Amino acid sequence: MPLPADLPVVDHHCHLSPTGEGVAAVRRFAAAGGTHLFLATQNYLSEVPVRLAQYEEQYATTVAIARQVEEETSVRCYSVLAPYPVDLLRQVDALGVAAAVELQMAALALAGKEVAEGRAVALGEVGRPHFPYPPELADSVEAVFRRALDVARDAGCPAVVHCEELDAGGFRSLAALASAALFPLQKLVKHYHRTALPPTDYAGISPSYLARRELVDSVLSRGGPWFLETDFLDDPRRPGAVLDLATVPRRARALADRDPTAAERLRIPFVESIGAVYGFTPEVPVG
Ligand SMILES: [Zn+2]
Repeated sequence: MPLPADLPVVDHHCHLSPTGEGVAAVRRFAAAGGTHLFLATQNYLSEVPVRLAQYEEQYATTVAIARQVEEETSVRCYSVLAPYPVDLLRQVDALGVAAAVELQMAALALAGKEVAEGRAVALGEVGRPHFPYPPELADSVEAVFRRALDVARDAGCPAVVHCEELDAGGFRSLAALASAALFPLQKLVKHYHRTALPPTDYAGISPSYLARRELVDSVLSRGGPWFLETDFLDDPRRPGAVLDLATVPRRARALADRDPTAAERLRIPFVESIGAVYGFTPEVPVG
């Protein structure tokens, strides 16, 4: 069975780099049946950004890659922008705590402006390092995270969270943080989630699942919002560090081959969840 012709096939979180495969990877995605990508920014330099102008340039690079994808392929590409939370640690070393926090907050404000002006659809990745970091930096990390939620709330956009893998308690405390910031829980997305927790364990937060076969199978019957992603890194030095960009369309086609009703379930991550969380509907040009 082919996939339904009107079904968009969406990778909800990937990276593309000017020094990586770039558009060639997107052609592989499109050839496998992919139609829409959410492109998260990243630091494209070998050094950590220490000036706001470097974030400005970084965001402009991401937006330019997204535009190039749309010009050179049939894939729609949405930019997701924010200073990477892990950057903060090295910025503290380079600049000291106060200036590092100030830089992150200024870069968040800049990302909010990009969303407000229509060049990005969400703030991301925001959150915390996914590994243990010096406890004396916890207050700074949390202050930047809270500011990220404030900026996303004011921009009316989702916040895509990078942090350690969360269990029910982790989702509960993340939900408490968001509620304290008056941030709508559904627009809070936990990216790179790798376990199928009982649905109530998510505390109203939207998971974006790594598109591993078993994980897709176990969440497919669930109501939304939830997403599928590869977190493709586009780093030739780290092949296989994450899933390939063609993974989501390949999974979708395998599901359709197995069972057409299963393919219909994919409207939840590919259409309904995007509507509920981002407020727009990805459409596939018919014909
Ligand atoms: Zn990522």
